[in-house]
Amino acid sequence: MNNQGDHFKNVISHAKEYGFVFQSSEIYDGLSAVYDYGQNGAELKKNIREYWWKAMVQMNTNIVGLDASIFMHPTTWKASGHVDAFNDPLIDNKDSKKRYRADVLVEDYCAKIEQKIEKEVKKAKKRFGDAFDENEFLKTNQRVLAYQDKIETILKRMARSLENEDLADVKALIEELEIADPVSGSRNWTDVKQFNLMFGTKLGASAESAMDLYLRPETAQGIFVNFLNVQKTGRMKIPFGIAQTGKAFRNEIVARQFIFRMREFEQMEMQFFIKPGTQGEWYKHWKEKRLNWHLSLGMGEENYRFHDHEKLAHYADAAADIEFRFPFGFKELEGIHSRTDFDLSQHEKHAGKKLQFFDPEENKNYVPYVLETSIGLDRMFLAVFSNSLKNEELENNSTRTVLKLPAVLAPTKAAILPLVKKDGLPEIAKEILQELQWDFNVAYDEKDAVGRRYRRQDAIGTPFCITIDHQTIEDNTVTVRYRDSMKQERVAVKNLKTLIEDHVSMKNWLKNC
Ligand code: ATP
Repeated sequence: MNNQGDHFKNVISHAKEYGFVFQSSEIYDGLSAVYDYGQNGAELKKNIREYWWKAMVQMNTNIVGLDASIFMHPTTWKASGHVDAFNDPLIDNKDSKKRYRADVLVEDYCAKIEQKIEKEVKKAKKRFGDAFDENEFLKTNQRVLAYQDKIETILKRMARSLENEDLADVKALIEELEIADPVSGSRNWTDVKQFNLMFGTKLGASAESAMDLYLRPETAQGIFVNFLNVQKTGRMKIPFGIAQTGKAFRNEIVARQFIFRMREFEQMEMQFFIKPGTQGEWYKHWKEKRLNWHLSLGMGEENYRFHDHEKLAHYADAAADIEFRFPFGFKELEGIHSRTDFDLSQHEKHAGKKLQFFDPEENKNYVPYVLETSIGLDRMFLAVFSNSLKNEELENNSTRTVLKLPAVLAPTKAAILPLVKKDGLPEIAKEILQELQWDFNVAYDEKDAVGRRYRRQDAIGTPFCITIDHQTIEDNTVTVRYRDSMKQERVAVKNLKTLIEDHVSMKNWLKNC
């Protein structure tokens, strides 16, 4: 197994061992692609949600929140196009009996070519040393250009075939590229078929009167159908946004990358309603804003990139993903979509009601255009968690496992540790705990040697360990140990709150966006 694969395995086992993520219904051997968040995971997830909410809703006076239901009138999904078009192309391997997304097989093939490009860059970097200009190299090296050309040709052809519903050509492409089943190596493929991703259910007691419903596959439609409610009751003027977080459900064909692709997951979406014709500038605006939000967490600029869509969804006139370097390579973390007036117009048609805005400047009514930002909370969790998990070699030749989470997101901000379980130290520690508890999520631990306790806190990403010792009795100071540098310093008890606040307050982190 390669290093990336090893790291991903460590991420999954660490998430379980330290109470972040469990397989759902594990005592019954689990349910495929459904996960539960444990005591630490629930906190981390809540903090990510809050970090998003604060940046999107609290810090923008023209964006407001919404909490719409998971169940919606079934016509919603007819209008939105999900009943007819929310499909993924699936293909089965006749020998291994494994099922795949045909488009993902082709994308993975292209990702391998991309790795070849990265190798060329690495080699050239070594050869040319400081004089190496990566951009110039990517633009001029013949081998690299040929690889890029190949990727582009393949993806363009696939986009065209999918758009034209030419599934035979998608299969032909897979055959021409000689793509084999990654598990068995077999090239014995079935035809490509479309598969609808929505989960159906029923509302009502008796079989005759029951109504067919869907579990929402995205939170966005809850926003669209409430557009006028919010606009009128909030007296909102265009441009304005509605944001919400909540569960979404998709019957994914292949779901085997831990919490990257789940069947039940949570989205954080914002629909920004704008004047038709201004979508170009807002698209640019939100791409930049959202990337800056990610960068504010300090997880490395080199770990993000934009991917502009070749194949546009049925509702979009422009779309890009913010991709993140997950343990298995660059993949979509967030989507920014220019959705035109597709959704509101469709709902107007199906509901027979106007969903328009009266623009006093223009003195006319129009159906607003929409710019959407949509991020998976679980995917963001995986990005943060996998990027933070490190195995460090220490000076004394030992190693430690540390979760270097952005402090603002850490589940526990500080652990209060009496050095020994006697001499009144636990009592002082508990007093400090009770005071800090008002402002932060803090933990108390008095078991085992203090070094072991530090390691336990490192493993769950606690930024501060606060040790109470005999000197505390004399001068009211404690030892603060920093997770990342492992440096220790003496701090007066009365200064603890400010010290922690400086490091973990959302304000200090979001200021950089
Ligand atoms: P993908 O191409 O990976 O299937 P998508 O383009 O269908 O994703 P969107 O419909 O744009 O995704 O959804 C917005 C966001 O919701 C995605 O960027 C992702 O973070 C998240 N998301 C989508 N599907 C899943 C899933 N099955 N599990 C977890 N998160 C998901």
